[in-house]
Amino acid sequence: MAPHTSTEHHPAFEEYCETIFELEEDGLKVIQARIAERMEISRPAVSEMVRRLSREGYIEKTQGQLKLTASGKEVANRVVRRHRLAERFLTDVLKLSWSEAHHEAGKWEHVISDSVEASMTELLGEPTTCPHGNPIPGSGYVEPATEALSTIQPGSAVTITRIPEELEFVPGMLEFLETHSIRPGTVATIKSVLSDGTMKLDVDGSMVEVDARTADRVLVTTDN
Ligand SMILES: [Zn+2]
Repeated sequence: MAPHTSTEHHPAFEEYCETIFELEEDGLKVIQARIAERMEISRPAVSEMVRRLSREGYIEKTQGQLKLTASGKEVANRVVRRHRLAERFLTDVLKLSWSEAHHEAGKWEHVISDSVEASMTELLGEPTTCPHGNPIPGSGYVEPATEALSTIQPGSAVTITRIPEELEFVPGMLEFLETHSIRPGTVATIKSVLSDGTMKLDVDGSMVEVDARTADRVLVTTDN
């Protein structure tokens, strides 16, 4: 059995801290119902775990919302960093699809050790984001000024910058985005916007339709 070190935490604690971190990162309200939805866990199970996490000092409740304490943030930063680093490794080196990489990284994030993390960081050339453009905690990433794709007028060209974590959890979404080259660095031109908010984009000469909810979440940069 491996010696227990102070940096090891219960995988479930890590999952919860990670989920709270990501909900906060996406600007969503951090309440138990949201956690249950994101983790696909029953509400009673979430409320039991939230009690344990508060007792252990990982989270606190302020103004009806859950917040990570300093030690909760420490756990979250580490697990999110390992998740995003693993995604990079799995896509860039092993050439897995986005969706496979996201799924696998959800397991790797709990078992990567400090030394493996350091070697992966070096091998990958110290990446600052995951393949979807989400910052790797501790990498010093400075995010450019982004806007939601949905706020851009037809006729404008944008550079896709970030696919927020929330979209990574929508079934089929990563496959859709990857297949249509909606990825960080891609330049797209908005051709038209339908009455339901669906956006028609020209991506490298192919037409892609992005629904309103997705267009609200995908972050882009513009030249002006
Ligand atoms: Zn990602």
